[in-house]
Amino acid sequence: MNEVHTPCLIIGSGPAGYTAAIYASRANLHPVVFEGMQSGGQLTITSMVENFPGYPEGKMGGEIMEDIRRQALRFGADIRTGEILSVDFSKRPFHCVSDDDTHVWAETVIIATGASARWLGLPSEKAYHGSGVSTCATCDGFFYKGKDVAVIGGGDTAAEDATYLAGLCRKVYLIHRRDQLRASQIMQKKVFSTPNIEMVWSHVPVEILGEGDKFSKNVTGIRLLQVESKAEKTLKVDGVFVAIGHHPNTEIFEGQVALDADHYIITEAGTSKTNVPGVFAAGDVQDRRYKQAITAAAGGCRAALDAEHFLLEC
Ligand code: NDP
Repeated sequence: MNEVHTPCLIIGSGPAGYTAAIYASRANLHPVVFEGMQSGGQLTITSMVENFPGYPEGKMGGEIMEDIRRQALRFGADIRTGEILSVDFSKRPFHCVSDDDTHVWAETVIIATGASARWLGLPSEKAYHGSGVSTCATCDGFFYKGKDVAVIGGGDTAAEDATYLAGLCRKVYLIHRRDQLRASQIMQKKVFSTPNIEMVWSHVPVEILGEGDKFSKNVTGIRLLQVESKAEKTLKVDGVFVAIGHHPNTEIFEGQVALDADHYIITEAGTSKTNVPGVFAAGDVQDRRYKQAITAAAGGCRAALDAEHFLLEC
């Protein structure tokens, strides 16, 4: 068993976690960062990122995260590969245990574990992920300018993605498993009044079709099943955007900090403070609305500043 004592433990390593690490290091909080299963977070599984400020030509998501990580290392952040498996926030210092049995005693904790997109669970979806299948319309939509795409889902995210993509693409099929949308009325109105969005009601995807090999491949279509008649049909599309919701990565925090009905961490408005003094949250783990790399980075900055102020006031 290893033991680590730190003024600031950061759990998670997306833009929120690494940005928190930069600020916390510069504030002499000697942060220890546990990167989690996917070091660098969701950005590392997207392709070219063109909306992160500072990269006028765009940059691969993984490279951006590596840049931010190096920036945190430069100021002395202790970044560790590994996952925190359990936390005890009942008293300070907080006690957290990692998968390699490191026991961390932390005066403050910044939770930046992010959220994971829900997937349909089709093998073909996995095969074409990053080569025509995406869960982020604002990240990847640009690559489908003038092309035909499909959006899967019936909630606000799907409706927003469809209207966003309609501004770029020739045609957007919005494929939903029922005969009415779950999205808010205002979003529904937008969808129905956008001429190049075609609703495909009561269908579920059964296979994403494509061509190429492991070095270069692309999507060519999607095979759908009508849920009542079980009739199949194929649509020719160049891209598929899966928008069936996200789930915040908060399993280990159940019962430790206040979560909302959808398991997002509740933070005090305008701050990163959770209901536990000394525990802060940043990024997608507490953000169901914006879910952008840059808003997550901003949240990480806020959380580190909140942690610093908390320690000064103790
Ligand atoms: P939701 O959970 O609201 O919607 C998910 C959609 O995906 C539903 O229509 C659901 O179908 C469908 N779905 C789920 N699983 C499957 C599956 N396996 N196969 C096919 N379809 C599936 O998620 P969202 O991400 O859309 O929204 C999450 C929350 O964030 C909501 O509260 C939303 O209002 C909010 N939000 C707000 C925005 C804003 O205010 N600007 C923007 C985006 C989201 P079914 O309807 O049949 O259950």
